[in-house]
Amino acid sequence: MNLLEKELIMNLKSRFFDLIDQDKGIHSYEELLKEMLLVIQNFVQSEELTFFNLQDWSKEMYVITSTNEVRKTSESIYQLISEDLKELVLNNSIIRQPIPFSPFDKYDLLLPIRRDNDNLELLAIKGMAEKIYSSDSLIEHLAMECTTFFHKAKGICEVILEEKRYKQLFRVTEKFHSSMNMDDVLGEIIFTLQEVYPSFTYYLMLSHDNNNNAKLPIKDLEYDSENISAMQAYVTGTIQLEDSVQERKSILYAPLKGKQGVYGVLQVIAPNTQTFPNNEMEFIMLLANTAGSALENAQLYQQSRKLISDLQLINETTRRLNSDLRLTETINFMTGQIQTSFVAEEVGFILVSDNFEQVKVLKGSTDFFFSDDSQVYLEYIARKIKTEKDSIFLGDLLLENASIQFRSVMAVPMVQTDVIMGFALVLHRLPYHFSFETFKLMQSLIHHSTLAFSNSMLREELEKMVITDHLTKLHSRNYLNENIHRSMTEDAFGSFILIDIDNFKQINDSYGHQVGDEVLIQVASIIHENIRESDIGARWGGEELAIYLPRIPLRVAVSIAERLVMKVNELTAPRITISCGVSSWTKEKDDSYTRLFKRADQALYLAKETGKNKVVVQEDEELIN
Ligand code: GH3
Ligand code: MG
Ligand code: MG
Repeated sequence: MNLLEKELIMNLKSRFFDLIDQDKGIHSYEELLKEMLLVIQNFVQSEELTFFNLQDWSKEMYVITSTNEVRKTSESIYQLISEDLKELVLNNSIIRQPIPFSPFDKYDLLLPIRRDNDNLELLAIKGMAEKIYSSDSLIEHLAMECTTFFHKAKGICEVILEEKRYKQLFRVTEKFHSSMNMDDVLGEIIFTLQEVYPSFTYYLMLSHDNNNNAKLPIKDLEYDSENISAMQAYVTGTIQLEDSVQERKSILYAPLKGKQGVYGVLQVIAPNTQTFPNNEMEFIMLLANTAGSALENAQLYQQSRKLISDLQLINETTRRLNSDLRLTETINFMTGQIQTSFVAEEVGFILVSDNFEQVKVLKGSTDFFFSDDSQVYLEYIARKIKTEKDSIFLGDLLLENASIQFRSVMAVPMVQTDVIMGFALVLHRLPYHFSFETFKLMQSLIHHSTLAFSNSMLREELEKMVITDHLTKLHSRNYLNENIHRSMTEDAFGSFILIDIDNFKQINDSYGHQVGDEVLIQVASIIHENIRESDIGARWGGEELAIYLPRIPLRVAVSIAERLVMKVNELTAPRITISCGVSSWTKEKDDSYTRLFKRADQALYLAKETGKNKVVVQEDEELIN
């Protein structure tokens, strides 16, 4: 090589060096190759330079890049290569015209750049300066420098790309572990992959019911013959490859694997290539693994959130049940909780007698249970619970003689000291409406509330048994009721006085509840002193009192009431007044306990309306509506 040629080569080398010593950095291998072709083109003054890749295993070749844009797109040649061409390339470092193999016959010079057995890369040059073409030594050196630089450039690009990828992986890992939302994690996987390999196509193949986010490219992971590789990846937890020679694409299936299981499969489709590049496979696998454990975390987190809210429901329910609720309120409350938490249509609480001879729907259940339509369900479920002594969970019930079909049924027995005292029944018209988790939750809800149920039932029973009021020592309302009922069947007539303390709230507000109680006791003892043994003075409720006077006519009752109004006004301290409503009944007129009470109540209302501290009588049936 002469001095001039040496200088030319030095010049080329320095231009190559400039390519990698750029301020803007190197973006991609493809870009670098393109710039390199321009440098060479400039050097040899050629018409066109194209970089080919020949793949031995598929006997195909394609254009990696070219200075001729048309070549890249329209002629993106994929042709079978012959063994002879391969031989030629493997055995020569320079191939001059004429080149017998199409499409290389168009070119003046072929420079093999890489000659691995299964991967040949060559630079095809069309037209060039005569002084270069005619000098063997110059072309030899050109080939050598190109080969060296191609390899270096490739190496540099790989390092840079690797660094970029791992930065992404690091970023994505950080993001994964700060997110407890499954959709965010899945979205991040796709986003990262699209950044790193924009030419690939991605799908998430998910197994569970996670596939409801329309924004993500999600496919159902179903077992069918088209999906063998995906299933394989899912079942074995290992990466699977599917190469399609005809379609010139390679598909990779990476399992999204956590510690406890596989959560889905990531499908990556690489176009225009026959084998999935090794580096990429490694990176995608790492990403899939990271995503798998992030998904697992998110799922565990969501499960624990669900558990916490279930526990809160149970806790809240039992707390409310143990507070001072009456049975009907209790049932009402439970019905509401179940309706909203479980999205149930009908909720019933049913008591059963010994041996299931009788069933009774408790007040507070939904209206359906008080209609005839519910009968078939009550009978069917009661019979089933009687024999199976266990909860019932049905998703597709069809009862022949039911007028309304409730396909989804949950029933849980209420058991107290080994005895079934009843059951809760939850219904929905749609089949398979309740999940198994809901059923489990319902079981623990009923289990935890049964005790409170029987407590409030017991309390109500007890209250019925008690005949005196604790505070006033007057009779209980229940006792009063029973005696009025008895008197109305046994006696000829009787009278009823309903008493309400006037402005009692004020007393409480200005003196406190304790003083209020004392005043209530004072009024009670005034009543006590002014009625006879056979009369029944009772606490009707709150600061309302009542007296039943058996075999006492209305006239007498009114004077007793008036005396009470006067005495209370005189004797109480702090001074208060009362209002009375009086009614009576006689055997001659058709009457009832309810009407007797209503008349007294209306009279009391009138007394309050017309100034308080007085007695009002309600005799006239006509006024009662
Ligand atoms: P009115 O003249 O219209 O009857 O006025 P009022 O302030 O009495 O009104 P109301 O009957 O609506 O209110 C009754 C109040 O009595 C409310 C409640 O705080 C109080 N109260 C009810 N039971 C008791 C009790 O056992 N002890 C005390 N201290 N207060 C009671
Ligand atoms: Mg009142
Ligand atoms: Mg009052």
